Amino acid sequence: DGDEEQSQDYLFKIVLVGDAAVGKSNLLARYARNEFYPNSKSTIGVEFQTQKMDIDGKAVKAQIWDTAGQERFRAVTSAYYRGAVGALLVYDISRRQTFDSVGRWLNELQTHSDMNVVTILVGNKTDLKDAREVTTAEGKALAEAQGLFFMETSALDSSNVAAAFQTVVKEIYTIVS
Ligand code: GDP
Ligand code: MG
Repeated sequence: DGDEEQSQDYLFKIVLVGDAAVGKSNLLARYARNEFYPNSKSTIGVEFQTQKMDIDGKAVKAQIWDTAGQERFRAVTSAYYRGAVGALLVYDISRRQTFDSVGRWLNELQTHSDMNVVTILVGNKTDLKDAREVTTAEGKALAEAQGLFFMETSALDSSNVAAAFQTVVKEIYTIVS
């Protein structure tokens, strides 16, 4: 009967973390709305954006949370992390300082979440080839050492943006289904 076609709904909370101006809001804008803001200010962020995906014929919703720029003051609240099952930990490949902060963000995630959050390390702004300060190999090595997924992206030219979000959602789905 029709029940078999009725797909179960999953809702996964995913948080964006990482230093200010690494491109978190633009990764979400690109993924959810296919938009990019060349001169975005910290205020453009929405609280969260819900994105529907289809995995194995099941309707999966990712509720993706963005900061309103409070990472600037190291004051991301525990409410932001509460219930999160996935995270994109973003740095900017053209600013090494943002890569050096990755360990601190991992600590934040571990402190504020009660379960193992599926996390992908994301090196954003690959379009800035001439300004690169962090090599792909360095990103990959850190991700391996910390047991994270890894991808390099560009919110500007769209490369790997959807893939980064989908990697997290698919892994969570695999764990919970
Ligand atoms: P957030 O503070 O982490 O949310 O960063 P934003 O998304 O607000 O982006 C900060 C700045 O970096 C903005 O001027 C964006 O236009 C720019 N930006 C974001 N992603 C990219 C990217 O992939 N490539 C380039 N060249 N600039 C980007
Ligand atoms: Mg932002």
